[in-house]
Amino acid sequence: MKSKIPKLIIISPCYNEEAGIESSVKRLNALYDDLIARGVISPHSKLLCVNDASKDSTWEKIKALCKEYPRLRGISLAKNSGQYHATMAGICAACDKCDAVITMDIDLQDDLNAIEKMVGLFLEGNEIVYGVKVARNGDSRFKRGTAKLFYRFQTLMGVKSIPDHSEFRLMSNKAIKILSQYKERNLYTRGVVASLGLPYATVDDIISERTAGESKYGLFKLINVAIDGITSFSIRPMRMIFILGVISLFITIGVVVYVIVSQFGYHASGWTSLILSIWFFGSLILLSLGIIGEYIGRIYTEVKQRPTFIVEETTGELD
Ligand code: UDP
Ligand code: MG
Repeated sequence: MKSKIPKLIIISPCYNEEAGIESSVKRLNALYDDLIARGVISPHSKLLCVNDASKDSTWEKIKALCKEYPRLRGISLAKNSGQYHATMAGICAACDKCDAVITMDIDLQDDLNAIEKMVGLFLEGNEIVYGVKVARNGDSRFKRGTAKLFYRFQTLMGVKSIPDHSEFRLMSNKAIKILSQYKERNLYTRGVVASLGLPYATVDDIISERTAGESKYGLFKLINVAIDGITSFSIRPMRMIFILGVISLFITIGVVVYVIVSQFGYHASGWTSLILSIWFFGSLILLSLGIIGEYIGRIYTEVKQRPTFIVEETTGELD
């Protein structure tokens, strides 16, 4: 049980969020006022917005808001690095500057009431507290459906993660210290955090509508996240190719036996079966090469060891 009042930093990645950032910062600041007044979090707690190289005026707005709200800080990245790397940029900046961080989308779709519960569970000794989506009122039917499918497929592929949890989570300084040592390009934070093996708890997260603007995730970006999640954590798809190969070898043996036996007193016409098997095995080979290529591509990007994000500008210290 931790006794002191924790210093908290909420980290929010922001990409083209000019429409909603002001109201979101205002709401978070009001929440901080309340939590600080009631002694839940330390008065030194901060809000950190990471601008993921937005094309609109998000960064100008963050800088202006920093002047208005003394506990707000901003980091701007040189190029769009994606939600996960932008969050990591914030985590690296917050490391050793606080007792715990909470990562949270700036559209405030997550449940703000859960924050106090997260801090409570952290004080009870949990190093990580996951927000688990219990209701997705603000998400479209498509999103709910694809999310469900994604979690199921992920489990099938051998990736361990907390079901229905995305990026809304509290992590202690100890947890982010370990996390910031992960230098992977194909970073799948949900999977990495779940694999740290630190004591954790969960809180319910009721998803509401986006405060403003539109979702930055189209179908293709979602598919990308899904592929990243699976290939960065599991080699099961490659193993499945091997099993597929073994199965097709047995089938081929069966077919060879059949062909030899049927040659006696029978003249093969078999154009259909020939063409079908060419197509079938052709597509199987292409599919297998595609999966292997996916892994080799990832090895290629990893070995280059390029930085995963580049900080261009900051608005001030987090102390
Ligand atoms: N985001 C980001 N970089 C990107 C795409 C998104 O930093 O390339 C941020 C975005 O500003 C938001 C969070 O990631 O704070 C989640 O994005 P969004 O709300 O569009 O995702 P959804 O809730 O629809 O899954
Ligand atoms: Mg959102």
